[in-house]
This record gives sequence, C-alpha cells and structure tokens, in this order.
Amino acid sequence: MTEVQATVEKARSAARWWGGLSYNERRSRLLAWKRHIARHIGELAALVAEETGKPQDDAALEVMLAVEHLDWAARNAGKVLGRHRVPSGMLAANHVATLEYLPLGVIGVIGPWNYPVYTPLGSVSYALAAGNAVVFKPSEHTPRTGAWLADAWATAVPGEPVLQAVLGDGAVGAELTWSGVDKIAFTGSAATARKVMATCAETLTPLVVEGGGKDAMIVAADADLDAAARAAAFGGFGNAGQTCAGVERVYVERSVYPEFLGKLSALAVGEQTMTTPEQPAIVRAHVEDAVSRGGRAVVGGPSSITASTVAPVVLAEVPEDSIAVTEETFGPTLVVNPVDSVDEAVQLTNASKYGLAASIFSKDSHGATRIARKLRTGAASVNAVLGFAGVPSLPFGGVGDSGFGRIHGADGLREFSRAQAVTRQRFAAPMDLMRLDRDPKVMQRALRLFHFRHGR
Ligand code: NAD
Repeated sequence: MTEVQATVEKARSAARWWGGLSYNERRSRLLAWKRHIARHIGELAALVAEETGKPQDDAALEVMLAVEHLDWAARNAGKVLGRHRVPSGMLAANHVATLEYLPLGVIGVIGPWNYPVYTPLGSVSYALAAGNAVVFKPSEHTPRTGAWLADAWATAVPGEPVLQAVLGDGAVGAELTWSGVDKIAFTGSAATARKVMATCAETLTPLVVEGGGKDAMIVAADADLDAAARAAAFGGFGNAGQTCAGVERVYVERSVYPEFLGKLSALAVGEQTMTTPEQPAIVRAHVEDAVSRGGRAVVGGPSSITASTVAPVVLAEVPEDSIAVTEETFGPTLVVNPVDSVDEAVQLTNASKYGLAASIFSKDSHGATRIARKLRTGAASVNAVLGFAGVPSLPFGGVGDSGFGRIHGADGLREFSRAQAVTRQRFAAPMDLMRLDRDPKVMQRALRLFHFRHGR
C-alpha cells in the first residue's frame, strides 16, 4: 500500500467519526484550529514568505483572509447544511419534506503555490465544516506550509486524523485523484485541470476546479482615475502578479486613456521575486510577443525580467490576439488598451477563454454594478479589486478555463456535501395515486385538478 493510499484509508475512518459529530461539536474543533493558526500567524507567515518569496506582510494578509473564511465556515455550516423543512407541494401535501446536506466522506484537496494558505483553505475549511475528512496535497513549491496546516490541526484537534497532508509533485496529486476519495478540489492551471479531470472520469470522482484567470479591469471615463490606477497596480503587480484573480488587462475609455496610463506608470515600481524558476521565462515570452506585435512598453520591457526577479511592466495598445492578452501571464505585467466605450470593454473582457473575475471603475457605481451582470465571470468588484476575496459569505469560482464549481460561502459548503431529500408521510393521501389498484374515478378527479392548475 502506498503512502497516499494509507493516508486516504486513515481519513476514511476519521471521516466516520467527524461526520458523526453534531454541527456544534465540529464548530468548536474548527474554531480551536482557527485560534491555533491565528495565534501563530507570525510563524506561518514567515514560512509562507520563505517558500514563496513574497513579503511577510503579504503572507500575513493571506493568513488573515483565510482565517476569516475558516471562521465563517465553522459558524455557518449548521445553518446552511442542517436539516430543514421545505414546502411539500400540492401532490405530496400529506408529507413533511425535509432537506439536509450530508458529508461526502473524504475530500482530496490539491493546491497551488501562489497563495498556499488562503487558496487551499478555501476548499479545506469548507470541506471540513461540511463534515468531511480531508487529504491535502500542497504544491511541491510550498510543501512545508501544507504540512504546517495539517500539523496545526493535529495539535489543536488531537485524536482522529481529520486533516492530513501528503507531500510531493504532480505524481502524488495524480495518485490522490485515483485513490477513490469522494471528491477532488483542485486549484491550479487549466492544463493540469484537464489531466485531473481525465483521471476523475476513470473513477467517476466528482471534481471542483479553481483555475486561472485573465481578469480585466474596466475604467469608465467618469472613474476616479487615481483610485483605479492604485487598484490596477495592486491587482496587477501585487504578489509579483501571481494572483489567479489579479488584474492582467485594463480597458480604459479613450478620453481618459493617456491620463490613466500616466498615473499607473508612476505606481509601477519595485522589483519582486518570482516563486518558481519556470515563471520568469513565461512572463518574458508574453512581454516579447506583445512588443513584437506592435504593443508599446510604457514601463519596463523584456529586460525587466531576470532569472528570478521581475520588475513591473506596463504594455499599451497590445493587439488582442497577443499571448499577453489571451494567456494567463502570472507576472507583474499589465496590458492597458484603449476602448471607445464601456460596451466595447465588456465585449473584450468576455472574449477571453477565462472567466474568473473582473473589476469596474466608474463614479456611477450602480450603473457599474449593472454592467457586472454582462460579464462572463464568477465575480466582479466595483470601484475596487478583489473585493469579494474577503467576503466569506460570497461564493468563489469561474467559468470556462477558470473552472467550475464553487468554494466559499453557502455554495462552497454545499459543494462538499450531498443533498439528501427525506419525506415523512403524515396521513394517507385523500387522492392516492401511488398504488397499483388505483381508483379510475380518483384518477379522473386528479386529471381535472391538473388541467385546472396547469392547463389554463
Ligand atoms: P499547477 O496546475 O501547475 O499545479 C497545481 C497542483 O496540481 C500542484 O499541487 C501540482 O503538484 C498538482 N498536479 C500537477 N499535475 C497533476 C496531476 N496530473 N494530477 C493531479 N495533480 C497534479 O498550478 P500551479 O502552478 O501550482 O498554480 C498556479 C495556477 O493556479 C494558476 O493558473 C493560478 O491562476 C491558479 N490558481 C487559481 C486559484 C483559484 O482559486 N481559481 C487560486 C490560486 C491559483
């Protein structure tokens, strides 16, 4: 038996114990884990900073956001998932109908390296709160962070191994996918998601995919340009641009385009470390493609990218078929293109194969919220970037190559549950059609009623 198989087997028995606890009993244990993480935030953030190369304050912010979600999942699981009555309808008026969302069993969580706490915990916390045991395979670039989270669980909730980590690269992820877990929560690139889904198809294992993004920011002519430029800089250059729902494209109404470019360029400073050795070459290829197709490097250029560091790059008037526009760059580069109208910006935003999130800047914030409905994305922020990330009651997930299924919020709890419908007959039906010796007269009456109700 391999280590992964043995770990999943241990998780099976832990899942039986964990799933058998009441919502309150699970809540108190989840909150004990939360307190442990919160009390050791400095230690965890230092580890994340060491493994990813991000500044420690950014790592601490990531932990703070993750803990907020954990707290919400722990406190709301009972309310969202617990058995509750639903209307039983006309035909089954003699039944009481109830619905509960029960645990699936063991969830395999496969995580990325860019936010090695916040991102996997978006699945782990909600899966645990829904009553499942979890086997977590962190990215091979951030194994110690993954192990720390599982060790923290074992310390805060000693006894059954409800949360365990298995360490290794894609081969270990593939093994976990094969292992017969009850669901896989995968976060990573669309290319890997396709492989994971193919494996899941073999065993009919359900899957939630949190994929990459090519998120656009739309800047209307009436926008607060200082705020928009600040948000674009944070969303585009923060975490060295390695944010799934970070800003990668900015569409600016033509009348304010030069002014916006000027403000953004002034903020495009600071060299950052990239987490993986492969990433700088990808970023450079995108910048070179944009420039060779006639895009203008307003700040930086191919020379901003060294073997391990990248300084911000601002690219203007980049053709929409350049890979800097069509593919996820995952580096601190921003493509800033002018548009004739917000409608054109919406159309270009939606032309991407990705659909994770977007942001809109406009003084008419209600109008901007209406525009959000036209976007083919799972989330949108008005007059901010990544506003949804810190709202635990909102679901998170994308469409297209950005994935499917939802983490966070009530949808995120249900994602790791099976709906169970139960009816309880209170009295015999006055018109009983569910019997072999059905009375034809009762059937006639039922049909008359049916026509009256639905055929008029
Ligand atoms: P990746 O696809 O290279 O790897 C993700 C995980 O999958 C890793 O743990 C890896 O070991 C594992 N893996 C690799 N091959 C596998 C296989 N055949 N079977 C099972 N598992 C396998 O992604 P990455 O480079 O670690 O992360 C960056 C990507 O993640 C970006 O595209 C980013 O946008 C995306 N991301 C998305 C979200 C979100 O919530 N939507 C959050 C963070 C990151």
